[in-house]
Parts: sequence; C-alpha cells; structure tokens
Amino acid sequence: MTIKVTIWNEGRHEQVHKEVQDIYPDRIDGAIAAGIKHPDFEIRRGTLDDPDEGLPDSLLNDTDVLLWWGHMAHEEVSDGLIDRIQQRVLKGMGLVILHSGHHSKLFRRLMGTNANLSWRESPAGDLERVWVINPSHPIAEGLPPFFEVNASEMYGEPFDIPQPDELIFISWYSGGEVFRSGCTWQRGRGRIFFFSPGHETYPIYHDKTIHKVISNGIRWAEQKHRDGRILENWHRAEALHPRPDGKI
Ligand code: ZN
Repeated sequence: MTIKVTIWNEGRHEQVHKEVQDIYPDRIDGAIAAGIKHPDFEIRRGTLDDPDEGLPDSLLNDTDVLLWWGHMAHEEVSDGLIDRIQQRVLKGMGLVILHSGHHSKLFRRLMGTNANLSWRESPAGDLERVWVINPSHPIAEGLPPFFEVNASEMYGEPFDIPQPDELIFISWYSGGEVFRSGCTWQRGRGRIFFFSPGHETYPIYHDKTIHKVISNGIRWAEQKHRDGRILENWHRAEALHPRPDGKI
C-alpha cells in the first residue's frame, strides 16, 4: 500500500543564501524527494511560503507521514498550524523531524521541552560518526554498524528532550562531543522519529545512507492500521459489572 509522504521544508535558506542554492538547487525537500523516491511512496512537497504555509488541511489530513525541516523561520509558523499537526500526530500520523527541526515549535510542542542542545558550525564541518546502537530496529534495516558524514554541524549533548522511547543512533564528532542523533517517541497514536544529520550548507541530503535512514524512518512511522478507535476522553457512566457489595 502506498505511503503518502509530505515533505515540509521551511524553504527560506534556499531563497536567500547562494551557497545553499548551489548545494540544493531544487531545495532541501527536492533533494530528499529525489533520494527517497520509491514506488511505495507518494511524495508531496510544501514550504512555508506556499499557500496555507504549505500544509492546507486537504494535504495534512491526507498525509500518512510528515517530514519536517526548518531552521531560520521557526517562529513564523502559525500556532494554528502547529495545533492542527499536533492533532494529526495524536490521531496516528507519523512524523520525521529532521536536523534543526529540533528547535521548531512543532517538535517542542510534542516533546514538552525546549529541545536545546550544544552546537558548532564551521566551514569544513566536523566529521560525524553515526553509531547504529539498535541494529534490530526497523529504522536500522540495511545499515552498517556505523556510517560517517564527512562534513556535519556538531549537535551535542546535553540535548533537552524527554527520555526517548528508543535510541537508534548515537553520534560521535571529531571535535569530541557525542549526541543522541536518532530517537523515537510515541505521542497519542502517532510515532515520531528525530534524525539529526542534515545541515543546509553541507550536501548531507544527497547522501545515499541518509536517504536510507529517512526512508526507513518513514516506513517505521507509518501506522499500518488506520481504523482503530481515536483516543478520546471516554465517559463510561455505566460500569461493566455491579460492585460485589451492591453499592452504586
Ligand atoms: Zn544546521
């Protein structure tokens, strides 16, 4: 069955920074879409400057898994859109938060923390070695014991997140730091996967291993069963059984 994937990209760096345009001429969402192309995925793309902030209800409500990349305009995303996405996640839509999406309104809302971390950006970047610490997890399917990103932005601990349900990756950087670079949570009926490699001035979203991780993340985050009861506040006025002592 086809998974309806929507790649949401803030899309601002590509408008104003030539070095980002040079690396991602079809924007970051275009590079990801090309990289994860597969008959199983029906891919749609949206940006902040598109009508309805790139996610009209008609698209959001028809999305099985949403990918989220943002950085310089987190605060411009309306609270109304965050409310609608949150409710879709709680009802079972999968969510993949990419890189600097850690500081988005959306991720912070779903985590309930500030999601602060330590970071360092340099022209050459850090070498990032991503260790696959949960090799039997579906997101690790087909991956080697570790893989490397030759030029990456350092995202380091402490990372201000609630304890992840599962840790898939831990990264080491040539500068000496470490980071929980692949984490999962469940919120309501929805599955959330955070994956950190992916800075806009490095060609990380042209990397086949990164595409593999994102594809695996989409397949994991999709809820196969869609007909389960929505988790609503359920007033059960009538008990299933009377009390043994006959009291009401
Ligand atoms: Zn970055």
